Amino acid sequence: MRRVSGKVLVLNNNYEPLNISTVRRALRLILLGKAEVIYSYDGELLRAEKVAFPKPSVIRLLRYVKIRREVPLTKKNILKRDNYTCQYCGRRDLPLTIDHVIPKRLGGKDTWENLVCACVYCNNRKGDRTPEQAGMKLLRKPRKPSYFVFITQGIRIPDERWKPFLFLD
Ligand SMILES: [Zn+2]
Repeated sequence: MRRVSGKVLVLNNNYEPLNISTVRRALRLILLGKAEVIYSYDGELLRAEKVAFPKPSVIRLLRYVKIRREVPLTKKNILKRDNYTCQYCGRRDLPLTIDHVIPKRLGGKDTWENLVCACVYCNNRKGDRTPEQAGMKLLRKPRKPSYFVFITQGIRIPDERWKPFLFLD
């Protein structure tokens, strides 16, 4: 089959979103009898050999899979979680660093709850102090992101019908 573009929302058997897949992988799941099509993109047919398939948009696995995926704690992912925004001044147009909210010197750990995106100026100003000691306030409390929210953050949803599954409106 020729290369087809597009994204497919894969739901677990209980309709919870599981991942976003390529059309090719989604079709493989359907052809293997492991998933069913919930929605197809209108009017788009994929041809393989002599058969034409509607291009899937949302599919659902026929068996429940137990997966607990976690977002790896990396500098890149901290920046993404914080939407590339300094968590002290709210600016996005300055060079960004990663700040330990509770400094390492005071026992602060490398965790989702203790690392935030900070611009170089705020990071320098805060120095080796807690936000309270520096008289600075975080825009929001840093948390560990949920896997699915994280992978869909900032992507353009290709089909309105995905939204109820993603709890978006
Ligand atoms: Zn800042």
